[in-house]
Amino acid sequence: MELVEVREGSARFLVPKAERIYDAPVFYNPVMALNRDISVLTARVLDPKRVLDALSATGIRGIRYGLESHAEEIWLNDISEEAYTLMKKNVLLNFEGELYEEGDRSYLWGEKLVVINKGDANRLMAENFRYFDLLDLDPFGSPMEFLDTALRSVKRRGVLAVTATDTGVLCGAYARACLKNYLARPIRGELCHEAGLRILIGTIVRYAAKYDLGVEVLLAYYRDHYFRAFLRFRSGAKKAEKSLFRLGYLWQDESGKFTYEETFLPEKPKAFGPMWLGPLKDEEFMEGLTKELEDFAPAHKKTRPFVELMREELDVPFHYDTHALARRHNLQVGKLAGIIEALRERGYRATKTHFSPTAVKTDAPFEEVLDVLKSL
Ligand code: SAM
Repeated sequence: MELVEVREGSARFLVPKAERIYDAPVFYNPVMALNRDISVLTARVLDPKRVLDALSATGIRGIRYGLESHAEEIWLNDISEEAYTLMKKNVLLNFEGELYEEGDRSYLWGEKLVVINKGDANRLMAENFRYFDLLDLDPFGSPMEFLDTALRSVKRRGVLAVTATDTGVLCGAYARACLKNYLARPIRGELCHEAGLRILIGTIVRYAAKYDLGVEVLLAYYRDHYFRAFLRFRSGAKKAEKSLFRLGYLWQDESGKFTYEETFLPEKPKAFGPMWLGPLKDEEFMEGLTKELEDFAPAHKKTRPFVELMREELDVPFHYDTHALARRHNLQVGKLAGIIEALRERGYRATKTHFSPTAVKTDAPFEEVLDVLKSL
Protein backbone atom coordinates (compact mmCIF):
# COMPACT_ATOMS: atom_id res chain seq x y z
CA MET A 1 0.00 0.00 0.00
CA GLU A 2 1.51 3.31 -1.11
CA LEU A 3 1.09 5.98 1.57
CA VAL A 4 0.98 9.76 1.50
CA GLU A 5 1.22 12.10 4.46
CA VAL A 6 -1.68 14.48 5.10
CA ARG A 7 -2.56 16.91 7.86
CA GLU A 8 -5.87 17.48 9.55
CA GLY A 9 -6.35 19.51 12.71
CA SER A 10 -3.32 18.94 14.94
CA ALA A 11 -2.58 15.55 13.40
CA ARG A 12 -0.22 14.52 10.65
CA PHE A 13 -0.79 11.04 9.42
CA LEU A 14 -0.47 8.60 6.56
CA VAL A 15 -3.29 7.60 4.24
CA PRO A 16 -3.26 5.22 1.27
CA LYS A 17 -2.69 6.83 -2.11
CA ALA A 18 -5.82 6.24 -4.19
CA GLU A 19 -7.65 7.75 -7.17
CA ARG A 20 -11.02 7.58 -5.42
CA ILE A 21 -11.60 7.37 -1.67
CA TYR A 22 -13.61 4.14 -1.85
CA ASP A 23 -10.77 2.39 -3.76
CA ALA A 24 -8.33 2.86 -0.90
CA PRO A 25 -7.48 -0.22 1.22
CA VAL A 26 -7.98 1.94 4.33
CA PHE A 27 -10.68 4.58 4.26
CA TYR A 28 -10.03 8.31 4.62
CA ASN A 29 -12.44 11.02 3.50
CA PRO A 30 -11.11 14.61 3.86
CA VAL A 31 -14.66 16.00 3.53
CA MET A 32 -15.45 14.37 6.89
CA ALA A 33 -12.94 16.75 8.54
CA LEU A 34 -16.00 18.88 9.41
CA ASN A 35 -17.59 15.89 11.14
CA ARG A 36 -14.34 15.28 13.04
CA ASP A 37 -13.96 19.00 13.89
CA ILE A 38 -17.41 19.04 15.53
CA SER A 39 -16.60 15.76 17.31
CA VAL A 40 -13.37 17.16 18.74
CA LEU A 41 -15.18 20.36 19.77
CA THR A 42 -17.77 18.18 21.51
CA ALA A 43 -15.04 16.40 23.44
CA ARG A 44 -13.59 19.77 24.42
CA VAL A 45 -16.96 20.91 25.76
CA LEU A 46 -17.82 17.69 27.60
CA ASP A 47 -14.34 16.65 28.78
CA PRO A 48 -14.71 12.85 28.55
CA LYS A 49 -11.87 10.83 30.09
CA ARG A 50 -12.20 7.62 28.08
CA VAL A 51 -13.00 7.80 24.39
CA LEU A 52 -13.60 4.97 21.95
CA ASP A 53 -13.34 5.45 18.19
CA ALA A 54 -14.89 2.05 17.45
CA LEU A 55 -14.47 2.11 13.66
CA SER A 56 -11.21 3.93 13.14
CA ALA A 57 -9.82 3.16 9.63
CA THR A 58 -6.66 5.35 9.54
CA GLY A 59 -7.16 6.30 13.20
CA ILE A 60 -7.52 10.00 12.40
CA ARG A 61 -10.67 10.51 14.48
CA GLY A 62 -9.29 8.91 17.63
CA ILE A 63 -5.92 10.57 17.13
CA ARG A 64 -7.60 13.96 16.90
CA TYR A 65 -9.61 13.24 20.06
CA GLY A 66 -6.29 12.48 21.73
CA LEU A 67 -4.44 15.53 20.43
CA GLU A 68 -7.18 18.14 20.54
CA SER A 69 -9.14 17.32 23.71
CA HIS A 70 -8.27 16.59 27.34
CA ALA A 71 -9.29 12.92 27.04
CA GLU A 72 -6.86 10.72 28.99
CA GLU A 73 -7.50 7.37 27.39
CA ILE A 74 -8.18 6.92 23.68
CA TRP A 75 -9.11 3.63 22.07
CA LEU A 76 -8.90 3.06 18.32
CA ASN A 77 -10.33 -0.04 16.72
CA ASP A 78 -10.80 -1.55 13.29
CA ILE A 79 -11.46 -5.06 12.03
CA SER A 80 -9.13 -4.67 9.06
CA GLU A 81 -5.51 -5.84 9.31
CA GLU A 82 -4.36 -3.04 6.99
CA ALA A 83 -6.18 -0.44 9.05
CA TYR A 84 -4.59 -1.83 12.25
CA THR A 85 -1.08 -1.59 10.75
CA LEU A 86 -1.76 1.97 9.59
CA MET A 87 -3.30 3.06 12.90
CA LYS A 88 -0.12 1.97 14.73
CA LYS A 89 2.04 4.00 12.34
CA ASN A 90 -0.24 7.02 12.70
CA VAL A 91 -0.33 6.85 16.50
CA LEU A 92 3.49 6.79 16.57
CA LEU A 93 3.58 9.81 14.27
CA ASN A 94 1.45 11.81 16.70
CA PHE A 95 2.23 10.66 20.25
CA GLU A 96 5.52 10.34 22.09
CA GLY A 97 6.38 6.90 23.39
CA GLU A 98 6.80 3.29 22.42
CA LEU A 99 4.19 0.78 21.34
CA TYR A 100 3.74 -2.28 23.50
CA GLU A 101 2.09 -5.03 21.46
CA GLU A 102 0.08 -7.94 22.82
CA GLY A 103 -1.84 -10.14 20.38
CA ASP A 104 -4.22 -7.99 18.36
CA ARG A 105 -3.77 -4.98 20.61
CA SER A 106 -1.10 -2.31 21.05
CA TYR A 107 -0.71 0.21 23.86
CA LEU A 108 1.16 3.47 23.97
CA TRP A 109 1.67 4.96 27.42
CA GLY A 110 2.77 8.56 27.21
CA GLU A 111 1.06 11.69 28.35
CA LYS A 112 -2.11 9.78 27.44
CA LEU A 113 -2.93 6.12 27.09
CA VAL A 114 -3.64 5.16 23.48
CA VAL A 115 -5.00 1.68 22.86
CA ILE A 116 -5.06 0.35 19.30
CA ASN A 117 -7.16 -2.73 18.78
CA LYS A 118 -7.72 -5.02 15.82
CA GLY A 119 -11.10 -6.71 16.00
CA ASP A 120 -14.81 -6.62 15.66
CA ALA A 121 -16.21 -3.47 17.23
CA ASN A 122 -19.13 -5.37 18.77
CA ARG A 123 -16.77 -7.75 20.50
CA LEU A 124 -14.58 -4.94 21.82
CA MET A 125 -17.56 -2.99 23.11
CA ALA A 126 -19.11 -6.09 24.69
CA GLU A 127 -15.84 -6.73 26.55
CA ASN A 128 -15.82 -3.18 27.90
CA PHE A 129 -19.13 -2.80 29.69
CA ARG A 130 -20.07 0.76 30.81
CA TYR A 131 -16.49 1.86 30.23
CA PHE A 132 -16.43 4.78 27.78
CA ASP A 133 -17.44 8.37 28.47
CA LEU A 134 -17.62 9.12 24.77
CA LEU A 135 -18.23 6.42 22.22
CA ASP A 136 -17.97 7.29 18.54
CA LEU A 137 -19.58 5.11 15.85
CA ASP A 138 -18.60 6.19 12.38
CA PRO A 139 -19.47 3.26 10.10
CA PHE A 140 -19.93 2.73 6.39
CA GLY A 141 -23.72 3.02 6.07
CA SER A 142 -25.93 2.27 9.04
CA PRO A 143 -24.73 2.22 12.66
CA MET A 144 -27.57 -0.11 13.68
CA GLU A 145 -25.52 -3.32 13.80
CA PHE A 146 -23.32 -1.68 16.45
CA LEU A 147 -26.02 0.07 18.44
CA ASP A 148 -26.88 -2.47 21.12
CA THR A 149 -23.30 -3.11 22.17
CA ALA A 150 -22.52 0.61 22.03
CA LEU A 151 -25.42 1.25 24.44
CA ARG A 152 -23.85 -1.26 26.85
CA SER A 153 -20.29 -0.04 26.45
CA VAL A 154 -21.01 3.65 26.95
CA LYS A 155 -21.33 4.83 30.56
CA ARG A 156 -24.83 5.45 31.88
CA ARG A 157 -24.16 9.19 31.79
CA GLY A 158 -21.95 8.95 28.74
CA VAL A 159 -22.26 10.30 25.22
CA LEU A 160 -22.78 8.47 21.95
CA ALA A 161 -21.58 10.18 18.79
CA VAL A 162 -23.09 8.43 15.81
CA THR A 163 -22.87 8.81 12.04
CA ALA A 164 -25.24 7.25 9.51
CA THR A 165 -24.41 7.46 5.82
CA ASP A 166 -27.32 5.31 4.64
CA THR A 167 -29.34 8.40 3.72
CA GLY A 168 -31.13 6.58 0.88
CA VAL A 169 -32.61 4.27 3.49
CA LEU A 170 -33.53 6.92 6.06
CA CYS A 171 -34.83 9.30 3.38
CA GLY A 172 -37.25 6.83 1.91
CA ALA A 173 -35.55 5.73 -1.31
CA TYR A 174 -35.42 2.23 0.21
CA ALA A 175 -38.44 2.29 2.49
CA ARG A 176 -38.40 -1.43 3.25
CA ALA A 177 -34.77 -1.28 4.34
CA CYS A 178 -35.74 1.55 6.69
CA LEU A 179 -38.51 -0.57 8.13
CA LYS A 180 -36.08 -3.45 8.60
CA ASN A 181 -33.11 -1.48 9.98
CA TYR A 182 -34.83 1.34 11.85
CA LEU A 183 -38.31 -0.10 12.49
CA ALA A 184 -39.80 3.06 11.01
CA ARG A 185 -41.57 4.34 7.91
CA PRO A 186 -39.57 7.08 6.13
CA ILE A 187 -40.98 9.99 4.15
CA ARG A 188 -39.86 11.10 0.69
CA GLY A 189 -39.73 14.67 -0.59
CA GLU A 190 -38.62 17.91 1.00
CA LEU A 191 -38.89 16.72 4.63
CA CYS A 192 -36.93 13.51 4.12
CA HIS A 193 -33.62 14.66 5.59
CA GLU A 194 -35.02 16.07 8.79
CA ALA A 195 -37.39 13.12 9.14
CA GLY A 196 -34.52 10.68 8.43
CA LEU A 197 -32.42 12.26 11.17
CA ARG A 198 -35.37 12.08 13.55
CA ILE A 199 -35.98 8.42 12.67
CA LEU A 200 -32.32 7.64 13.46
CA ILE A 201 -32.59 9.35 16.86
CA GLY A 202 -36.00 7.79 17.51
CA THR A 203 -34.62 4.30 16.94
CA ILE A 204 -31.72 4.95 19.30
CA VAL A 205 -34.18 6.23 21.94
CA ARG A 206 -36.20 3.01 21.62
CA TYR A 207 -33.11 0.80 21.89
CA ALA A 208 -31.78 2.80 24.86
CA ALA A 209 -35.08 2.66 26.77
CA LYS A 210 -34.76 -1.06 27.58
CA TYR A 211 -31.51 -0.29 29.43
CA ASP A 212 -33.35 2.41 31.41
CA LEU A 213 -31.43 5.09 29.57
CA GLY A 214 -33.03 8.37 28.59
CA VAL A 215 -31.59 10.38 25.72
CA GLU A 216 -30.78 14.08 25.48
CA VAL A 217 -29.93 15.38 22.03
CA LEU A 218 -26.90 17.64 22.36
CA LEU A 219 -26.74 18.22 18.62
CA ALA A 220 -27.98 16.39 15.56
CA TYR A 221 -27.56 17.40 11.96
CA TYR A 222 -27.59 16.42 8.31
CA ARG A 223 -24.72 17.31 6.00
CA ASP A 224 -22.87 16.05 2.91
CA HIS A 225 -25.19 13.03 2.63
CA TYR A 226 -24.76 11.82 6.15
CA PHE A 227 -26.50 12.18 9.51
CA ARG A 228 -24.66 12.84 12.75
CA ALA A 229 -25.99 12.90 16.31
CA PHE A 230 -24.38 13.57 19.69
CA LEU A 231 -26.58 11.98 22.32
CA ARG A 232 -26.12 12.18 26.10
CA PHE A 233 -27.64 9.47 28.23
CA ARG A 234 -29.51 9.91 31.47
CA SER A 235 -29.91 6.98 33.78
CA GLY A 236 -33.26 5.72 35.08
CA ALA A 237 -36.59 4.23 34.01
CA LYS A 238 -38.34 7.62 34.29
CA LYS A 239 -35.70 9.22 32.07
CA ALA A 240 -36.16 6.48 29.49
CA GLU A 241 -39.95 6.91 29.55
CA LYS A 242 -39.62 10.67 29.22
CA SER A 243 -37.52 10.24 26.08
CA LEU A 244 -39.94 7.69 24.65
CA PHE A 245 -42.79 10.18 25.08
CA ARG A 246 -40.98 12.51 22.68
CA LEU A 247 -41.46 10.04 19.85
CA GLY A 248 -44.30 10.42 17.42
CA TYR A 249 -45.39 10.63 13.81
CA LEU A 250 -45.41 12.99 10.86
CA TRP A 251 -48.08 13.52 8.22
CA GLN A 252 -47.84 15.57 5.03
CA ASP A 253 -50.53 16.26 2.44
CA GLU A 254 -50.33 17.17 -1.26
CA SER A 255 -50.29 20.90 -0.51
CA GLY A 256 -47.05 20.49 1.45
CA LYS A 257 -48.77 21.09 4.79
CA PHE A 258 -47.35 18.91 7.54
CA THR A 259 -48.59 17.94 10.97
CA TYR A 260 -46.91 15.88 13.68
CA GLU A 261 -47.94 14.41 16.98
CA GLU A 262 -46.10 12.95 19.96
CA THR A 263 -47.85 9.64 20.52
CA PHE A 264 -46.88 5.99 20.94
CA LEU A 265 -49.23 4.79 18.19
CA PRO A 266 -50.44 6.89 15.24
CA GLU A 267 -54.12 7.69 15.41
CA LYS A 268 -54.47 8.64 11.74
CA PRO A 269 -53.46 6.61 8.66
CA LYS A 270 -50.48 7.38 6.39
CA ALA A 271 -48.19 8.26 9.28
CA PHE A 272 -44.42 8.47 8.88
CA GLY A 273 -42.28 7.35 11.79
CA PRO A 274 -41.99 6.68 14.63
CA MET A 275 -39.43 9.41 14.99
CA TRP A 276 -37.95 11.80 17.56
CA LEU A 277 -39.98 15.02 17.81
CA GLY A 278 -37.92 16.64 20.57
CA PRO A 279 -35.15 19.22 20.15
CA LEU A 280 -32.19 18.70 17.82
CA LYS A 281 -29.83 20.76 19.94
CA ASP A 282 -29.17 21.74 23.52
CA GLU A 283 -28.70 25.48 24.03
CA GLU A 284 -26.05 25.17 26.74
CA PHE A 285 -24.09 22.68 24.66
CA MET A 286 -24.29 24.97 21.60
CA GLU A 287 -22.98 27.83 23.72
CA GLY A 288 -20.09 25.59 24.75
CA LEU A 289 -19.34 24.70 21.13
CA THR A 290 -19.36 28.35 20.11
CA LYS A 291 -17.03 29.23 22.97
CA GLU A 292 -14.65 26.40 22.10
CA LEU A 293 -14.62 27.54 18.49
CA GLU A 294 -13.12 30.88 19.59
CA ASP A 295 -9.66 29.40 20.02
CA PHE A 296 -9.93 26.37 17.80
CA ALA A 297 -8.54 26.14 14.29
CA PRO A 298 -11.03 23.98 12.38
CA ALA A 299 -9.60 21.61 9.80
CA HIS A 300 -12.53 22.27 7.49
CA LYS A 301 -13.30 25.79 6.28
CA LYS A 302 -17.06 25.24 6.60
CA THR A 303 -17.03 24.08 10.26
CA ARG A 304 -17.36 27.55 11.79
CA PRO A 305 -20.19 28.87 9.56
CA PHE A 306 -21.98 25.54 9.84
CA VAL A 307 -21.92 25.57 13.65
CA GLU A 308 -23.07 29.20 13.59
CA LEU A 309 -25.92 28.34 11.23
CA MET A 310 -27.05 25.50 13.51
CA ARG A 311 -26.77 27.71 16.55
CA GLU A 312 -29.06 30.35 15.03
CA GLU A 313 -31.54 27.82 13.68
CA LEU A 314 -35.02 27.79 15.22
CA ASP A 315 -35.40 24.39 16.87
CA VAL A 316 -38.94 23.39 15.94
CA PRO A 317 -39.86 20.16 14.18
CA PHE A 318 -39.73 20.37 10.38
CA HIS A 319 -39.42 23.20 7.93
CA TYR A 320 -40.92 24.68 4.78
CA ASP A 321 -38.87 24.37 1.64
CA THR A 322 -39.82 27.50 -0.27
CA HIS A 323 -38.93 25.98 -3.67
CA ALA A 324 -40.95 22.84 -3.04
CA LEU A 325 -43.92 24.89 -1.81
CA ALA A 326 -43.71 27.21 -4.81
CA ARG A 327 -43.66 24.17 -7.13
CA ARG A 328 -46.66 22.62 -5.40
CA HIS A 329 -48.67 25.87 -5.70
CA ASN A 330 -47.41 27.22 -9.04
CA LEU A 331 -45.84 30.29 -7.49
CA GLN A 332 -42.78 32.34 -8.30
CA VAL A 333 -40.36 31.83 -5.46
CA GLY A 334 -39.12 34.92 -3.63
CA LYS A 335 -35.75 35.32 -1.89
CA LEU A 336 -35.42 33.34 1.33
CA ALA A 337 -34.22 36.38 3.29
CA GLY A 338 -37.37 38.28 2.22
CA ILE A 339 -39.62 35.40 3.24
CA ILE A 340 -37.96 35.17 6.65
CA GLU A 341 -38.28 38.92 7.13
CA ALA A 342 -41.97 38.91 6.12
CA LEU A 343 -42.73 36.11 8.59
CA ARG A 344 -40.94 38.01 11.36
CA GLU A 345 -42.89 41.17 10.49
CA ARG A 346 -46.07 39.17 11.01
CA GLY A 347 -44.86 38.32 14.51
CA TYR A 348 -43.54 34.80 13.94
CA ARG A 349 -40.12 33.38 14.61
CA ALA A 350 -38.32 32.33 11.43
CA THR A 351 -34.75 31.34 10.55
CA LYS A 352 -32.72 29.56 7.91
CA THR A 353 -32.13 25.87 8.41
CA HIS A 354 -29.07 23.73 7.79
CA PHE A 355 -31.34 21.06 6.24
CA SER A 356 -31.75 23.05 3.02
CA PRO A 357 -30.50 26.40 1.67
CA THR A 358 -34.00 27.11 0.31
CA ALA A 359 -35.98 26.27 3.45
CA VAL A 360 -37.27 28.19 6.46
CA LYS A 361 -37.91 27.03 10.02
CA THR A 362 -40.79 28.91 11.56
CA ASP A 363 -43.54 28.69 14.14
CA ALA A 364 -45.97 30.27 11.66
CA PRO A 365 -48.86 28.07 10.52
CA PHE A 366 -48.74 26.61 7.03
CA GLU A 367 -51.44 28.98 5.67
CA GLU A 368 -49.44 31.99 6.83
CA VAL A 369 -46.24 30.72 5.16
CA LEU A 370 -48.15 30.15 1.93
CA ASP A 371 -49.68 33.62 2.17
CA VAL A 372 -46.22 35.16 2.58
CA LEU A 373 -44.97 33.23 -0.46
CA LYS A 374 -47.91 34.50 -2.51
CA SER A 375 -47.40 38.08 -1.37
CA LEU A 376 -43.75 38.39 -2.45
N1 SAM B 1 -13.93 6.84 11.53
C1 SAM B 1 -13.11 6.88 10.34
C2 SAM B 1 -12.73 8.30 10.00
O1 SAM B 1 -13.22 9.27 10.64
O2 SAM B 1 -11.92 8.50 9.08
C3 SAM B 1 -13.76 6.21 9.16
C4 SAM B 1 -14.29 4.83 9.43
S1 SAM B 1 -14.83 3.97 8.02
C5 SAM B 1 -16.24 4.85 7.50
C6 SAM B 1 -15.49 2.50 8.70
C7 SAM B 1 -14.44 1.50 9.18
O3 SAM B 1 -15.14 0.47 9.88
C8 SAM B 1 -13.64 0.79 8.09
O4 SAM B 1 -12.28 1.06 8.25
C9 SAM B 1 -13.93 -0.70 8.31
O5 SAM B 1 -12.79 -1.54 8.15
C10 SAM B 1 -14.39 -0.72 9.75
N2 SAM B 1 -15.27 -1.84 10.12
C11 SAM B 1 -16.30 -2.38 9.42
N3 SAM B 1 -16.90 -3.35 10.14
C12 SAM B 1 -16.26 -3.41 11.33
C13 SAM B 1 -16.45 -4.19 12.50
N4 SAM B 1 -17.41 -5.09 12.60
N5 SAM B 1 -15.62 -3.97 13.53
C14 SAM B 1 -14.62 -3.05 13.46
N6 SAM B 1 -14.39 -2.29 12.36
C15 SAM B 1 -15.21 -2.46 11.32
